[in-house]
Amino acid sequence: MADFPRILALTSGADAPAKVYGARAATQVALMGTGLPVPKGWGLSVDAVKAITNEDFPEDWPFLDELTTGCLVSIRASPVERVWGGPDALLNLGMNQATCDILKAPLGEDAATALYARFVQDYSIKVARLDPEWFEELYLLHTKKDKLDIHAVLGSSLALYDQNVGELFPQEPVRQLRKALRSFVKAWDGTTARILRMAQGAPSDAGLGLIVQEMALGLGRGECGAGVGQFVSVQTGEEVAHGRYMSQSQGRDAVEDQAHAHFLSKDPRGPSLEDVCPEALTELKAYSETARVAFGDEMQLEFTLQDGQLAVLDATVAERSGRAAVGISVRLVEAGIRSKEQALMGIDPRSLNEVLHPMVDPKAKRDVLTSGISSSPGAATGKIVFTANAAQASAAREEPCILVRVETTPEDVRGMHSAQAVLTAKGGRDSHAAVVARTIGVPCIVGVSDMKVDVRGKVLSLPNGFVLRAGDTITVDAGTGEVLHGAPKLVQPNLGGAFDKFMSWADEFRVLGVRANADTPQDARISREFKVDGIGLVRTEHMFFEAGRLNVMRELIFAETEQDRKAALNLLLPMQRSDFVELFEIMEGLPVCIRLLDPPLHEFLPQSRDEMQSLADAMGLPLSKITERVEDLREFNPMLGTRGVRLGLMVPEIYEMQARAIFEAAAIVSKKGTAMIVPEIMVPLVSANREVELVKTRVDAIFAAVRNDTGVSMEYSLGTMVETPRAALRAGDIAHSSAFFSFGTNDLTQMTYGLSRDDSGRFMRDYIAQGVFDDDPFHSLDVDGVGELLLMACERGRAAHKGLVLGLCGEHGGNPESVGFCHKAGFDYVSCSPFRTPIARLAAAQAAISETD
Ligand code: PEP
Ligand code: MG
Repeated sequence: MADFPRILALTSGADAPAKVYGARAATQVALMGTGLPVPKGWGLSVDAVKAITNEDFPEDWPFLDELTTGCLVSIRASPVERVWGGPDALLNLGMNQATCDILKAPLGEDAATALYARFVQDYSIKVARLDPEWFEELYLLHTKKDKLDIHAVLGSSLALYDQNVGELFPQEPVRQLRKALRSFVKAWDGTTARILRMAQGAPSDAGLGLIVQEMALGLGRGECGAGVGQFVSVQTGEEVAHGRYMSQSQGRDAVEDQAHAHFLSKDPRGPSLEDVCPEALTELKAYSETARVAFGDEMQLEFTLQDGQLAVLDATVAERSGRAAVGISVRLVEAGIRSKEQALMGIDPRSLNEVLHPMVDPKAKRDVLTSGISSSPGAATGKIVFTANAAQASAAREEPCILVRVETTPEDVRGMHSAQAVLTAKGGRDSHAAVVARTIGVPCIVGVSDMKVDVRGKVLSLPNGFVLRAGDTITVDAGTGEVLHGAPKLVQPNLGGAFDKFMSWADEFRVLGVRANADTPQDARISREFKVDGIGLVRTEHMFFEAGRLNVMRELIFAETEQDRKAALNLLLPMQRSDFVELFEIMEGLPVCIRLLDPPLHEFLPQSRDEMQSLADAMGLPLSKITERVEDLREFNPMLGTRGVRLGLMVPEIYEMQARAIFEAAAIVSKKGTAMIVPEIMVPLVSANREVELVKTRVDAIFAAVRNDTGVSMEYSLGTMVETPRAALRAGDIAHSSAFFSFGTNDLTQMTYGLSRDDSGRFMRDYIAQGVFDDDPFHSLDVDGVGELLLMACERGRAAHKGLVLGLCGEHGGNPESVGFCHKAGFDYVSCSPFRTPIARLAAAQAAISETD
């Protein structure tokens, strides 16, 4: 640092690193280097600004000489990282009566007076800390019949200052400057500012640089004003002018008062910069192109016009939605401005959520019920449910639902996963519902304040007397923040063009495979559209919860004779076979990994009297027999009871039937000649190698029989789901019987922590708030604990079995950080829900690119 002057004249080619002078100063120098008209300025280094705190204010600072009568400057924050924010700019410093008088000739009396009035107001609020509302009142007071008397405003503002500060408004520019610089430092050091920037990742000792710059006035004769503009659409990334301009204004006035501002290019909605000064728009566009090349990105320019002369005050990365970001990146690569690697690294994988979700067809009729704050992208239609449990039940019935709550808590998270969209009466963009919904990619509107939610009565009422009940269909349009009645047409995301190209680049770089967790043909089709490398997890139990199948499954579990079991199996087999035929056909030879039945036994047991009666009728048994058997089979802790492979060994016919269905389906599809199907079969909840051996022996026998019966020469592979800590520890043994491991990190996290997947919501928020966990380990893989088990299992597994394939199929497969971990650990693939696969593909590419840096 010692080599850098504390105060630097910002000129083309000056050495002004952001670390020393802040990001804004670095940008100014870069802009000057491109030849753009940037007003003269000086950068105060972070050290110089720190010294101001200690009253170190040398008399020889170079810009003090420039502060002569008639010259105005601005002071602007230049934090080391832009996102850290900083105090608002102070404009027109140096203004006093003498300068006002001098400026009257070139600018006109009103403009010069307006500049003085603005400065008095700005200085009073930002430096002397007077109440902004007092000044707003002055403007109202001195506006008669829409005409503002600026001279009266100036007089009253000076009087207001005198009365409240107890001295006359300072006329000496150097005194104004000293006080202003100190107020910047104080504002930066304030507690609120500190908390806000720390939330943006700033360290506790984050540095602030400052810029003192000659004013580009924006007020005066001819076309004068200020604005902000970029030449790409925020929403779509298309090449269109976006921004605002306001005549006779400064700074960000045009953005803050959009109702009175001009558009940039001609617009049917109102006047534009193009109407009042077309040359300025042409020039601005050319400057934007220059900045785009210089910064390697689309930039937003802050500009001022003085009698038609353009000055550029700043350039920041152009605003863009996640949807727009992909298109912009692709164009930058195609223009040779960025490399593919830079484009891939420049997009947060989570932001792809915005590209991936449906929206309401713009042409559809909209019956708007109410609106709120849209906080997670997309649109969805479903039936209203009021509790997380109801959402889960609805998902189990494959019935799309919208979860409506007053606000959500961690206990609602599983319900949110099951819902198509979430709606809350309370909350803001960073409320629990908003944050969780964004993370899991579910459309969400929060703060629907005119909606009354009666969870007990299962009723939602709106002020116009409209009442909606559980089961009524609504549509959440999180694009506009509106809740619509019924089911307007939704447009599925347009994943062609730029998105496809971008994702194909990700595929060029990634080495980690990305598969989808898909149980239904619909999931499989979506997965194909997302160009996955295969299916990494088919949860077959979902196939048994369908209405027609559940009773047959129950008959199998309750069967007392060989004959009864066979009868039930004969009904189930063709159903399963057709499920698999459909999946294999859709996947056209890509790997499909089918997990043998996993759920705890209790999920198949009839619960209500009606269900028991219906089973008794179907089986021709007395009701008492059924209730007795249900009692017999009930477990204290079903998640750790007769679940997964344990059920498979207790009722082996289930796995045998599933294996037969898989092989027969593979034979049918292979025979059709489209693709050779090599099914992967996975054994769940293993804790000992013997479990795998027993299953493998039976499955091998079925395989041989089907191959014999069908005459189709097939192959298959059998692997283990590593999701108990013991399986991870005994990976060396288990690898002997397994062609692959797929880590079920949902259960592995649950069992490693001894933390219920279903109940952790109760205390997760507190645990994170108290710093026990950095993040919810069910969302982001616990690298230290569960991660260590994974690494150990990989090492032991591969040492025992060289070609062992390694995958991960827990929720973490769609979490960018967890994907990075899997890449580093040398996994072959991750598998996650279809909509998250593009996120995983991009995260995998980023992990690979980071390694080569
Ligand atoms: C897992 O446990 O990580 C897993 C994928 O299986 P499930 O979520 O079905 O238990
Ligand atoms: Mg599991």
